[in-house]
Amino acid sequence: MNIAIIGGGAAGFFAAIHVKTNFPEAEVTIFEKTSKVLAKVKISGGGRCNVTNAAETIEELLQAYPRGKRVLKSAFYHFNNRDMIKWLHKRNVETIVQDDKCVFPKSQQSQSIIDCFLAETKQLDIHIRLNHVVLALEQSNNDKIKLSFKEGSEVFNKVIVTTGGSPKRKGLLWLEKLGHTIEEPVPSLFTFNMPNEKVTSLMGVVVQNVQVKIQGTKFTASGPLLITHWGMSGPAILILSAFGARELFHRNYLFPIQVNWIYMFDFNNVKTELIAIQKTHPKKQMQKLKPFGLPNRLWLYLLEKLQISPEKKWIEIGNKTINKIVNILTNDTYDVNGKTTFKEEFVTCGGISLKSINAKNLQSKAIKNLYFAGEVLDVDGITGGFNFQAAWSTGFVAAKLLD
Ligand SMILES: Cc1cc2nc3c(=O)[nH]c(=O)nc-3n(C[C@H](O)[C@H](O)[C@H](O)COP(=O)(O)OP(=O)(O)OC[C@H]3O[C@@H](n4cnc5c(N)ncnc54)[C@H](O)[C@@H]3O)c2cc1C
Repeated sequence: MNIAIIGGGAAGFFAAIHVKTNFPEAEVTIFEKTSKVLAKVKISGGGRCNVTNAAETIEELLQAYPRGKRVLKSAFYHFNNRDMIKWLHKRNVETIVQDDKCVFPKSQQSQSIIDCFLAETKQLDIHIRLNHVVLALEQSNNDKIKLSFKEGSEVFNKVIVTTGGSPKRKGLLWLEKLGHTIEEPVPSLFTFNMPNEKVTSLMGVVVQNVQVKIQGTKFTASGPLLITHWGMSGPAILILSAFGARELFHRNYLFPIQVNWIYMFDFNNVKTELIAIQKTHPKKQMQKLKPFGLPNRLWLYLLEKLQISPEKKWIEIGNKTINKIVNILTNDTYDVNGKTTFKEEFVTCGGISLKSINAKNLQSKAIKNLYFAGEVLDVDGITGGFNFQAAWSTGFVAAKLLD
């Protein structure tokens, strides 16, 4: 049996290693279009490779994926984040877990992961053919698959496509022609530009736990928020960009967001706390006593936005003003106009539709003996090691080559 893996990235290597482990007699070849394998692994996580996430349960892990939950639920049952950490440990790649649950190699070098994969492929005698672009694929006799290269064509018993995310639909045309549905590729994981909002004057301010919502939709996210000189960033914004990726694309990145700066939702509770401050510190100036541990600069900015003099004493504000403060703390609005790519990690929302594959074995419904794994599928996660985990898990499952 000879098996081809198209694409020498994270999913391709992991699939190849497991195909050869599952079928030791098979000839396994990775075809990589560039002169380098595992290029994204190399640059990932700022050169440190956030290899997975230490989420404690499969349910928790699944929360991190705006698209692909159903396929991943089944894949994580076979191979999940804990399995990946064990897999690396068994091969002497120790990992460390950060406070935010991101997992990195202990060496803090993505090269450790690359060296491990290269040693494994060498030991298993997996062939790697660089500078080989697969141009086309077709079903040939006896359900085999013919791959076409610039140099000619070759026939394989089984093929796994691991060509990664394609930012343009054009890059997926060769797979669409075979009868696979394509979910339009659009960017995910980006930050929000707010060219007309004065809040950008607070650049550098971090608010630890906010909730952000795309107005008029069900999309919300929470976590730390960073104000930048062009708008807003930080985990809460990146998560919102991932979950709202398709909706925001359709809105041409022009939309209002609602920010709850204090992650409290009951109007009366917030009001009670403000009245308590007023009672305890009636003579304090508003600017000198910021409620809910808000960053100083943000509190002054919100007072200015409400046209409340910062010198005013707490006792001098009435019921109407207190209501206004509650509103701005829990439901402040900003206009987003445009986006900026998050440089640390960007992924594509969209790809081969999950309707075109069997969720259990990742086999194509259109072409026999063809499988998919990794970001080429309409599967993507938020930042935190989740995208690599999707590549490892889907690569592992596709490598079973189950009919
Ligand atoms: C800057 C950056 C940093 C990131 N950091 C992290 C991180 O720390 N943690 C995390 O979880 N995720 C991270 N990601 C996301 C992660 O890198 C991807 O989700 C992951 O690499 C997807 O793996 P893949 O194997 O599906 O695709 P890829 O890694 O993109 O590999 C696909 C391979 O296929 C090859 N190929 C494509 N078409 C063909 C063809 N026709 N013939 C032959 N070869 C072909 C490509 O050249 C490529 O080598 C980062 C992404 C970027 C861009």
